[in-house]
Amino acid sequence: MLVVGTGPAGMLAAAQLSQFPGVATRIVERRPGRLAIGQADGIQTRTVETFQAFGFAERIIAEAYRITETAFWKPDPADPSRIIRTARTPDDPAEISEFPHLVVNQARVLDYFAEFMADSPTRMSPDYGFEFRSLSVADEGEYPVTVTLLHTSGPNEGQERVVRAKYVVGADGARSKVRESIGCTLAGDQANHAWGVMDVLANTDFPDIRLKCAIQSGSGGSILLIPREGGHLFRMYVDLGEVDPNNKGAVRNTTIEEIIHKANEILHPYTLDVRNIAWHSVYEVGHRLTDRFDDVLPEQRGTRTPRVFITGDACHTHSAKAGQGMNVSMQDGFNLAWKLGHVLEGRSPESLLSTYSAERQVVAKNLIDFDKEWSTLMAKRPEEFEDPSELEDFYVRTAEFPAGFMTEYAPSMVVAAPEHQHLATGFTVGKRFKSAPVVRVCDANPVQLGHQAKADGRWRIYVFADPATPQTPQAGTASPTEQFADWIANSPESPLAATPEGADPDAWFDVNVIYQQDHTAIDFGAVPAAFKPRVGPLQLTDYEKVYATDPTADIFDLRGLDRGGVVVVVRPDQYVANVLPLTATAELAAFFAPLLQPRRPEELPSSALSGGPTAHSTTTPSAMMNN
Ligand SMILES: Cc1cc2nc3c(=O)[nH]c(=O)nc-3n(C[C@H](O)[C@H](O)[C@H](O)COP(=O)(O)OP(=O)(O)OC[C@H]3O[C@@H](n4cnc5c(N)ncnc54)[C@H](O)[C@@H]3O)c2cc1C
Repeated sequence: MLVVGTGPAGMLAAAQLSQFPGVATRIVERRPGRLAIGQADGIQTRTVETFQAFGFAERIIAEAYRITETAFWKPDPADPSRIIRTARTPDDPAEISEFPHLVVNQARVLDYFAEFMADSPTRMSPDYGFEFRSLSVADEGEYPVTVTLLHTSGPNEGQERVVRAKYVVGADGARSKVRESIGCTLAGDQANHAWGVMDVLANTDFPDIRLKCAIQSGSGGSILLIPREGGHLFRMYVDLGEVDPNNKGAVRNTTIEEIIHKANEILHPYTLDVRNIAWHSVYEVGHRLTDRFDDVLPEQRGTRTPRVFITGDACHTHSAKAGQGMNVSMQDGFNLAWKLGHVLEGRSPESLLSTYSAERQVVAKNLIDFDKEWSTLMAKRPEEFEDPSELEDFYVRTAEFPAGFMTEYAPSMVVAAPEHQHLATGFTVGKRFKSAPVVRVCDANPVQLGHQAKADGRWRIYVFADPATPQTPQAGTASPTEQFADWIANSPESPLAATPEGADPDAWFDVNVIYQQDHTAIDFGAVPAAFKPRVGPLQLTDYEKVYATDPTADIFDLRGLDRGGVVVVVRPDQYVANVLPLTATAELAAFFAPLLQPRRPEELPSSALSGGPTAHSTTTPSAMMNN
């Protein structure tokens, strides 16, 4: 498995794949080392939620700038040469997420993923100094993709290296060579829009310098101001307008002095005295999208499955104004990587891989439509607005979109039709699983249910129990929850039956129960065995899958859960895949049947046979890209 590019999309994909000890993954990057500074910085709340699954949300929150409000500045109607504050809006008035909206440098995000990979069962690290040149895909063979790389640094600099892989992920940015090699082109606006971007330390009398601001001046210029981590640094996106296709150099050669001068003009009557420039760039981008995110041509759909995928900027580009660049790219990687892991480990059929392009292409299209609307509004001159508060109203009304929570995957082999949605109105099938507070029964700890889900590639089955408390079994008295627990643990029809023999019972499926009562009412000893599996080399009981409601915030009320009991199935990338009544075991089995390949034990990678998903392999993947 080869990933090209160590940007946010590639690093997340590789980090997720690092959780599959049976899969040899390599990630190559043409730079000689890690990204040190610059590029994107906006981290939406959905992304922080994702970081939680990768185990570094708390640490990154501690070092980031937190956006709590956005201020809007416009020309003073009495004197349009001066700007005045016209509105300030809370960042997340509807409390869409319990996580904050952050600003933190892309380089730090990539470092955290690198750390996660290094600590993973596969002990992976990126291979810097390799540039992707070209690839070809054979019709057959175990490693059908042949890739030519070039050493860009080190003793072999300038030499080519040919490697073979089962699959290739192109996460190589807006000028993607992987995209080119599969015959995809970015279509969309021909004209690029340009911003002068600068991360600076400065003195200013502009009062909102530590708030996120959208600033429009009477002359038509605009600035997006983003305070940065650390208390002093801030970023300004200074609008440089459309790039003239006949004279692209004119904008590209804009100097930092010109950007600072323009910023001062827009901020009038306030002034900006820049003392240090940490980073600057002219960031030029158009609204572009490829019509497919993999190498299967439209006429081949249904006849073959993909071998090469593109993610992130390689398949969609848009302005920086909605702060989406790295966020959407990471979600591409999250969507794809667990599917690759499942197929490469032999858990699932290759047809699963076709759902990546189908799901993510729609998301990118929606993002570009949203971004066009937002950019157009921001570029409007004040006198062009019919309603003076149109810009801030749009910002508040659509807040859920840039926060990353409007993604709703359509029914497919990984998302069921929402036939039983009424049983769990707060867990929309196809949308991300929205966390809520619960109490862990074993240690009486209040926790967020969603935060317990790690990026370990497992499906999650949440059993929201019927009203009965767990009882020591007596013949003929099993509650619906107990009957479901017995079925999921023991029935040959249960998806858990596909778990490799010898692996932990929760190696592929993490089954949790949430009782309706207060935790003191739950007799842990009477909880069915399905919810307290024995795991790991010592076969110890896992106590941490049994929850009760938090009396101050009852999850059954918060998420509209049917008190007769309901099963919620969640994908490894945290999207709700199915909602079912406790009795719908046949339906649950039918949902998973196409996703699970029955396998013989001798076909399994040895790592899948011991210790389950948390097992740490001591072997590194084989020599550079033999796989
Ligand atoms: C200079 C620059 C400035 C930017 N500024 C902003 C900004 O201010 N705000 C904002 O929101 N977004 C900005 N972006 C965009 C934002 O960084 C991207 O949206 C986001 O990083 C997309 O992630 P990605 O993983 O798809 O691609 P990228 O982050 O672009 O990562 C692609 C990686 O692939 C590597 N690569 C490329 N080609 C090859 C090859 N042939 N072989 C091997 N490796 C290769 C690159 O070196 C890079 O590390 C900027 C991008 C760039 C390049």
